[in-house]
Amino acid sequence: MRYYLDYNASAPMDEQVKNYIKEMIDWHGNPSSIHTKGRKLKNLLEISRQKIAALVNCSSKDIIFTSGATEANNLALNGYKKKIISAIEHESIKKQKHTILINVNKEGYIDLDMLENMLKNDNKKKGMIVSVMFANNETGIIQPVEKIAKIAKKYSVPFHTDAVQAVGRINVNFLQLGVDMMTISSHKIGGPSGAGALITASKKKILKPILVGGDQEDSLRSGTEPILAIAGFGQAAKLSKINKIEKLKNLRIAFEKKLKKANLGIQIIAENSNRLPNTFMMYTPGIKAEDLLIALDLEGFDVSTGAACSSGKAEPSNVLKRMGYSKLIAAGVIRISLGLYNSMREADMLVNALKRILKRFGKI
Ligand code: PMP
Repeated sequence: MRYYLDYNASAPMDEQVKNYIKEMIDWHGNPSSIHTKGRKLKNLLEISRQKIAALVNCSSKDIIFTSGATEANNLALNGYKKKIISAIEHESIKKQKHTILINVNKEGYIDLDMLENMLKNDNKKKGMIVSVMFANNETGIIQPVEKIAKIAKKYSVPFHTDAVQAVGRINVNFLQLGVDMMTISSHKIGGPSGAGALITASKKKILKPILVGGDQEDSLRSGTEPILAIAGFGQAAKLSKINKIEKLKNLRIAFEKKLKKANLGIQIIAENSNRLPNTFMMYTPGIKAEDLLIALDLEGFDVSTGAACSSGKAEPSNVLKRMGYSKLIAAGVIRISLGLYNSMREADMLVNALKRILKRFGKI
C-alpha cells in the first residue's frame, strides 16, 4: 500500500478526467486544419479554454496554451530587461537573466516596502516587470497578491504571478486580482501533464514568443496544440471545486496536530502564516531530509524535500534559507502536500511510521 502525500509535485489525474480523455483517444487531426476533423478539434480547444477561463475568471481570449508552467513562466518574462522577482520563486523564474530579488521575512511573505522602494527609486522602468509566486510550492504560504498588483500598477510596471499551486486550491480571480499575467498548470489540478497556460490581458501585444512557426495561439506559441492534454486540462478545471479542497484544511490541521502531539520534536514551518489548505512543511530534528524521505518511502509514503519538486535532488531548501532559517533546518524539512484521495487514517499511519524511523535512527 502506498500513501501519496506529494500533490504539489503533481496531483493524480481525476478519474472523470481520465474517462473524458478516453472518449476522444481515437480523435485525430490538427486543430488548425480547415476540414471537419480539424474544426472538431478546434472546437474542443476553445471549449477547454472556456472551462479554464471560468475557473480563474478571465476572458477565454486571454489564455495562451503552453506545454506547462515552466514554459508559461518563461514566456511571461521573455523580452523584459529587468525582472524584479521574489527570492523564493520556482527555478523557471529564478534562473532567468537580469533578475533583482525581493527579500522575504521569516513568515514567508515578501517585503512590500522593499518592492515599493525598488520601483520608486528606479527611473528606467521601461522593460521592467515584477513577478511573484501566488502560493509557494514548498511552504504553501500565500502572498498578498492584490497588494503587490496595486504597488506595481502605481509605478506602471507589469506584474506576473505564478499561480500554479494556488489555482484549484483557493479562490483565484484573475480580473479581481488586478495582475497583468498569470501562469497556471494542468497536472497540479488533476489534469494530465503536458499542458499549461499563460493568462494575459493587457500585455498580449507586447509579449515576445519563444516558439515561432505556425502562428498558433495568436502567434504567441507556435506548434500544434496537444489537444488531449488541453482537453483534460479543461475538464479538470471544470471539475475543480475549491470547497472540496477547503475541506482538506481540516485534514491538514489534523496531520499537523497529530505530528506535534507525538512528542517527536516535529515543528511546522510558518505555522501561523496564511497557507494553502493542503500544504505544510515539517522539520524533524536530527534527521537529514533526504534520509527521512528515503525512510518514509520504504514505509510507503511519497513525500518530497522542499527542493525536490524540480530537481529530483534533495538539497537544503532555498526557500527556507531565504526565509532566514538555519542551514540545519533548511536541510531537514520535508513537504507534505495533500489531496482529495488522502484520509485521516494516513495521519496516524504517518506518525507511526515516523516513530519507527526515529527509533531506528536512534533519535528516540
Ligand atoms: N511553478 C510552480 C510554483 C511549480 O510548483 C511548478 C512545478 N513544480 C512549476 C512552476 C513548473 O511546472 P512544470 O514543471 O509542470 O512546468
